[in-house]
Amino acid sequence: MALTPSQLDRLPPGVDAPPFDRGKVTAGIAHIGVGAFHRAHLAIYTNLTLTDPDMASWGILGINLLEHDKPLADAFKAQQGLYSVSEFDPHGTRTTHVVGAMVEYLYAPVDGAAKVLQRLADPAIRIVSLTITEGGYLIDEHGQFRLDDATVKHDLEHPDEPKGAFGFIVGALARRRAAGVEPFTVMSCDNLRHNGAQAKKAVLAFAKARSPELAAWIDAQVDFPNGMVDRITPATTPAVRDELNAATGLTDEAPVVCEDFIQWVLEDKFRHGRPAWERHGVQIVDDVSPYEDAKIRLLNGSHQMLSYPAFLSGHRRVDLAVKDPLFNAYLTAFLNDDAGVWLKSLPGMDLGPYKKKLLDRFSNESIADQLDRLCLDGGSKIPGFLGPTITACLENGKDARRLAFLLAAYDRYVRVGKDDDGATYPLREPNAMRLVQPLIDSGSKETLIESVELVGPLPAKDERFRRQYDIYVDALEKHGVRKTLERLDALVD
Ligand code: NAD
Repeated sequence: MALTPSQLDRLPPGVDAPPFDRGKVTAGIAHIGVGAFHRAHLAIYTNLTLTDPDMASWGILGINLLEHDKPLADAFKAQQGLYSVSEFDPHGTRTTHVVGAMVEYLYAPVDGAAKVLQRLADPAIRIVSLTITEGGYLIDEHGQFRLDDATVKHDLEHPDEPKGAFGFIVGALARRRAAGVEPFTVMSCDNLRHNGAQAKKAVLAFAKARSPELAAWIDAQVDFPNGMVDRITPATTPAVRDELNAATGLTDEAPVVCEDFIQWVLEDKFRHGRPAWERHGVQIVDDVSPYEDAKIRLLNGSHQMLSYPAFLSGHRRVDLAVKDPLFNAYLTAFLNDDAGVWLKSLPGMDLGPYKKKLLDRFSNESIADQLDRLCLDGGSKIPGFLGPTITACLENGKDARRLAFLLAAYDRYVRVGKDDDGATYPLREPNAMRLVQPLIDSGSKETLIESVELVGPLPAKDERFRRQYDIYVDALEKHGVRKTLERLDALVD
């Protein structure tokens, strides 16, 4: 059964329809970057919130900008914004919802920049939310927005024909200002520390390059709440799509699979209104920093700790790697002895059970998360996910051998391009390659540990850490990941 609105009252058993009348819902949120995570997170909370009759003006206008989103865009158009989300608990029990929150959808390369700008300038849109990935914010190693990025340059030269997220956001804000319309709130849902502040930095830098007066207006008028988001949502490969459709009985070209866990802690900075997401489980707080710190250091940090070593050892699935006793012990030690020691429990987030549950979540075989997803763009992720733990350990004189090992594994991953079984893999490192490619080309022995952009200034200066790193680089080359990890303690003093 193809997934279209006319099918909603005849869905297969076990598949929930949107719990509201889509005909009554209009878009109040425009979301840029309709990928897997948005569909399983913000869209799910919003889908629930739309059951409240007073919330009907908070539907979602989905927007994608990039060429590679074409197949997804075709699916959203054919299905009029509908798609299914299948949530699996750690025991494999599935719950499937058809999500109806995306009541409009635009694909910029086909629908045109003018149409997207016009919709973003509409006063009905009061929030522009983002999942454009960590690298999408274009913040360089000095914390500056990259005005030299090709898309940014294009968008500054062609303000009415932008291609990138910041060209659209700033272009729409400029139109609203000129028309005397209130701005929208810009809400990042990406996995960045202080994601609102990062979005603000990018938007203001772009706006300033267009017009200092516009930048000043945005600075004074636009809110950029920080938020901590969590739900493991792997990419939907064609094989996963077919498996999901076989299980649900739907013919959905854009299904999403995710864990049953979901969390969103959000700062209440929305001068121009927001949906009452707190009625449906969102935790609204004054300061999200301790929550994002805890989540990013523990969850994303563990993901990154697992990624390169497990992948190089020959694993491809997160659940299987976490069930491997060698990696399980390594991650448990990282959580308790490296990342966890610097963090405290918070209201609504008790870190003891949180850490215990994390490894259960990772070992959920029904979502079979992919290690190559975790490996993707380490150059943008390592600084945020592991940087604070590395700094805390080294500043306090604490042995950080597991982190030295991880950096050695990352070095091997980007430099050698083959796993321990000799299998090659595509390197997807859009940001790190600026640093790494010159090292590879020169055949230099100089190491990634000296890259302040990646790991901060302390690792290169810390003799013990540097020595451990060098030993692990050698051991990985001679003995591979498993043997090095088995002897992680014995190899160093
Ligand atoms: P995805 O690949 O399914 O979707 C990413 C979307 O962002 C795509 O539509 C892509 O075209 C778009 N995009 C990427 N770079 C962009 C850019 N520079 N400008 C504009 N659009 C851009 O990935 P996903 O799983 O949806 O993850 C997206 C982000 O969500 C992650 O990078 C992370 O910050 C956050 N997140 C993901 C998860 C997860 O488990 N997948 C969990 C928490 C947070």
